[in-house]
Amino acid sequence: MTLPTQKILFNNLKITSARYAPFLTELKTHFASMDKKYNAVADLYGFNCEGCINNCCFTRFHHHTHLEYFYILEGYKTLENKQQITVSEKAFDVCRKTDELEKKEATIRLMCPLNFDGMCILYEYRPMICRLHGMPHELGRPGQIPVRSPGCEAFTEQRKEKAYYTFDRTPFYVEMAGLENRLKQSLGIASKFKMTIAQMLAGLAD
Ligand code: SF4
Repeated sequence: MTLPTQKILFNNLKITSARYAPFLTELKTHFASMDKKYNAVADLYGFNCEGCINNCCFTRFHHHTHLEYFYILEGYKTLENKQQITVSEKAFDVCRKTDELEKKEATIRLMCPLNFDGMCILYEYRPMICRLHGMPHELGRPGQIPVRSPGCEAFTEQRKEKAYYTFDRTPFYVEMAGLENRLKQSLGIASKFKMTIAQMLAGLAD
């Protein structure tokens, strides 16, 4: 199994955390307002995903910003050495199994390497989609009518009635894109980003 090209690129660029730290400060503020809005709408529904057996951490989420990657790296640094090694090995294993399943064109449903006993060990550092997943929402694109999407299976199971409380992801995506652009300009990054958590963490402890 080979590491994603982007990861090799970052290793070569030797981007130090001091260079991206100011952007992560902004990201934390942005995530805080995202969490606040999510929790407010979840409260309106009385929605709670604790103990969900269809754990969304099995979903193969791709993340699309360097910002989220750097934030995960910062979270990873807070783990004890032994745990870092375990996470890195789990991540490598997920990538290896993903490659095998892709070759067989089979469904890929593997637990995220940051999930231990049903809990995210870097919960504070989790990416945007992990924060927004679950509830029905809408998303607008320039010049188009906003598209509404349903909640996850657990949500639909818990909330069988059709009421919809507005949860517009658009401002969060727009703000993330703006911050990501400023980060890339500042650090001289030209490439786009697309990685799973497993790809971000595989081989980090080597
Ligand atoms: S980063 Fe955390 S919340 Fe997101 S999928 Fe992984 S374990 Fe789950």
